Amino acid sequence: MNQTTRIAPAEPDLAGLAVLEAQVARDLEMLNLPPKNWVPPLVRDDTAVLDAVVVGAGMNGIAAAGALIFRGMPNIAVLDAAGPGQEGPWCTTARMDTLRSPKTLPGPCFGIPSLTFRAWYVANFGQESWEGLYKIFNRTWQDYLGWLQRVLKLPLTHFAKVTRISPADGLLRLTVEQPDGTRMLLARHVVLATGRAGAGGLDLPRFVDRALFPDLAALAPQPIDFEALRGRSIGIIGGGASAWDNAATALERGAARVDLYVRRAVLPQVNKGRGSTGPHFHLGFEAIPPEEKWKLNVYLQDQQGPVPHETVHRALRQSEFHVHLATPTRSARRDGDEVVIAVGGAQPREVRHDYLIVATGFSVNPAQIPELAEVAPHVSRWVDVIGDVPPELRRPEIENFPSLGPGFELRPRDASAPPELSRIHLVNYGAHLSQGGIASDIPGTMVAGDRVAEAVIRAVFLEEFPRIRQALVDYDEPELIGTPFYVPPPGKETEPNA
Ligand SMILES: Cc1cc2nc3c(=O)[nH]c(=O)nc-3n(C[C@H](O)[C@H](O)[C@H](O)COP(=O)(O)OP(=O)(O)OC[C@H]3O[C@@H](n4cnc5c(N)ncnc54)[C@H](O)[C@@H]3O)c2cc1C
Repeated sequence: MNQTTRIAPAEPDLAGLAVLEAQVARDLEMLNLPPKNWVPPLVRDDTAVLDAVVVGAGMNGIAAAGALIFRGMPNIAVLDAAGPGQEGPWCTTARMDTLRSPKTLPGPCFGIPSLTFRAWYVANFGQESWEGLYKIFNRTWQDYLGWLQRVLKLPLTHFAKVTRISPADGLLRLTVEQPDGTRMLLARHVVLATGRAGAGGLDLPRFVDRALFPDLAALAPQPIDFEALRGRSIGIIGGGASAWDNAATALERGAARVDLYVRRAVLPQVNKGRGSTGPHFHLGFEAIPPEEKWKLNVYLQDQQGPVPHETVHRALRQSEFHVHLATPTRSARRDGDEVVIAVGGAQPREVRHDYLIVATGFSVNPAQIPELAEVAPHVSRWVDVIGDVPPELRRPEIENFPSLGPGFELRPRDASAPPELSRIHLVNYGAHLSQGGIASDIPGTMVAGDRVAEAVIRAVFLEEFPRIRQALVDYDEPELIGTPFYVPPPGKETEPNA
């Protein structure tokens, strides 16, 4: 990486931003966005029902919420458990220097140039800074997402954690924990845009002793106090980008030594995730038959993603970074104040560290999504769909992915499933097997947002069709009034032809 590209942008140009925001307002006006609310209001037990609740205000929540509002459904709520500027991993647990994606990705911009990351960046920091930018700094991306929340006027509540989603007689009831207490909401649909960990939590392999936590170990996507690890020796399990990011971060913050234990003998070389992105995959993937989806996902699972070369260079700059390839971890246990890890092939050896970071990624399993505890047993998973596949195509790691419908909706596993299941849409990494990567990474985020919004709109239109039809019948704005051809409606014959 060129050294100049490592310099974070200077203070934002507020005047430049004001000009951009005026442009955004003009663009929305040109496109007549947002349209007026077309959804008939619904009240249940004296409670106003929300048309949709979007859980999560990261990029996928922003895309879904904006897409609903831009389709005339403003009666929604967007809830995030985190505080402002803390949504998603970018400024909390993501420990890379910059995003891995190229800076030219437009972001969740709804096809509107003034809402792109580039427009926002140039308005804030100028064209020269844009030219010099190599990749997007985490904080910069987070600030851009915060700006979108603001200019889109999302009805967003921070520090609002959804803890339970329950079927409620044709609707969904949400239990929401907030600093001032618990409240209940009723909604027609819920979009779970809850991020990488929102599809089943963090992966903690069985061979890692739970007694190591919290003082001697952490999972990579958790907050870690690196100051407390100064001068200590750290073992890291895992070979993915996150493992390397954590190694580099620990050493840059003063750790004495980091050993990275990687099962693979050779690191993945090619980013097949990047190869499976683009309009063809984004729009076409959902339509391919289940058995082909399964085979493709097995292939991608086997390939795994490579560590970005910038991350590798960053870790290798540290003299006390030691990577051990072809070194699977067999067990990790506590011995007093130390972590004892058994590593290696046929004859494992024991190594000792002061601290362990487990960087084995995320789980996907509806049974492990706390908000869905009530309905999870009824949710169809891929293991229910694929049936008997030959042994070479079995992959227990991905069998529990939910089998989602075309609008990201949960599908029933059995006849006893509550019908409200289809009102819950899972727009996160859990959608990967059913929809491809559109809800996982930045390039597909607008495809996912549009798709889920359209599914919600269609469903609400259908269930409200009797009232919408009646509204059409009642609609009586005369077009020809003032012309010789005006005929007053029956009962209004005395009205003047003004
Ligand atoms: C370390 C890391 C680096 C990544 N780097 C890249 C990259 O460079 N390029 C790329 O394309 N992709 C990257 N990704 C993948 C992906 O783009 C990110 O995970 C991204 O954050 C996904 O956006 P999201 O909106 O789905 O979820 P998030 O950004 O994670 O937002 C989810 C939000 O949901 C909230 N939430 C969760 N549960 C609840 C609840 N029950 N109630 C209320 N709120 C809740 C959370 O507080 C969070 O703010 C990366 C992922 C990780 C983990």
